[in-house]
Amino acid sequence: MSARDPCEHIVELADACVKCGLCLPYCPTYALDRVETESPRGRIALARHVADASLAPDAGLRAHLDHCLGCLACERVCPVPVHYGELLTAYRAALPPASPRPRRMLRLLTRPGWVRFGAALARGSGAAHWLTPLARRALPRDSALRAAISLLPALPAARSARTSVPAPVNAHGKVALFGGCVQGALEREVQDAAARLLSAAGFEVARIEGLCCGALAAHTGDSAAAATKGRRVRAAFEERGLDTVLTATPGCLGTLREDLPDAQVEDAMAFLDRHGEALEFRPLDRKAVLHLPCTQVNVARADGAVRRLLARIPGLELDVLPTRGMCCGAAGSYMLEFPERAVAQRQRVFESLPDPLPGLLLTANIGCRLHLGAGLRERGTPMEVQHPLMLLAQQLQP
Ligand code: SF4
Ligand code: SF4
Repeated sequence: MSARDPCEHIVELADACVKCGLCLPYCPTYALDRVETESPRGRIALARHVADASLAPDAGLRAHLDHCLGCLACERVCPVPVHYGELLTAYRAALPPASPRPRRMLRLLTRPGWVRFGAALARGSGAAHWLTPLARRALPRDSALRAAISLLPALPAARSARTSVPAPVNAHGKVALFGGCVQGALEREVQDAAARLLSAAGFEVARIEGLCCGALAAHTGDSAAAATKGRRVRAAFEERGLDTVLTATPGCLGTLREDLPDAQVEDAMAFLDRHGEALEFRPLDRKAVLHLPCTQVNVARADGAVRRLLARIPGLELDVLPTRGMCCGAAGSYMLEFPERAVAQRQRVFESLPDPLPGLLLTANIGCRLHLGAGLRERGTPMEVQHPLMLLAQQLQP
């Protein structure tokens, strides 16, 4: 069987669009720029014309396509539906982004050992205090290095030893918990929290650590690297012989589903919402803001589950940030590739924060936590930024 022509595939996917424009109010880049070329409908038309060679992919045109955050809000609301995520991956594989991408830095981010080493070095040298202001003075605003250094103040505290998780009583089954590259390397506590909650809900947990799903590589158009990472993930799961795979990082979910087509791949919070009826939580007299990462809303479609789970903590007052047309700008590698646009998107999120501001912000993606946390510090807004699973595990009734 001959391989499918990638350009024909893009044209086929793009031709499904009926140009109704219903997706436009949900697109964060359209909300920022208010031009058709920064909207889903505009990008679909541009990708189609580049694919059928009726438009030359000059730098200006490609910039509009590269500016897409990959949030997939357009796909979620499209009535057809147009498979925008598939179109974006196909387009980026055929024509990798034109921007000068920080390739080496992105490659390092997919290696948990290097991420751990870099974080330990930054903490040990106190780099957040002296390097961040220096980078702000010495490097241009659109520098990827400056953007990476600006995240240092938001790095989570040094990793503690893994806490032991009690075995479930009368286990209902066994699930795999995928750690991911950046979150798995930086926040062991989140994996511990997920494992504790799953165990309390009656599930035995097999942890899969030290692997990258390939999402970062796929987003940057490096389909060969994404495929290699996908093969490693598949081998690790096949070895364990499990059919349910959970992740506490919604950003990994879409790629994991592609890596493991025969498995049931789910957001850990959506799974706990459905299977965690045995969980009981201690009261907490506290206000918090909930930020829902785009992938948790549009790919995992777990926004309702997250709210329901957190509503089970008696006394917790939750303010949910708007999601329509919003993205914090972290978007995988976007905050490093387009730092100024990422900061502009983050600013729109900050403008939607309640007043007075609660002391706690909850969000499930490590990229969102770092990007929002760094921005809050820059603004001098003291807020603790945490994964919702950490709060749930902390309030779990013994
Ligand atoms: S992508 Fe879907 S919602 Fe957007 S213009 Fe096309 S058909 Fe309409
Ligand atoms: S994926 Fe997000 S940023 Fe990209 S076109 Fe769709 S809604 Fe806009």
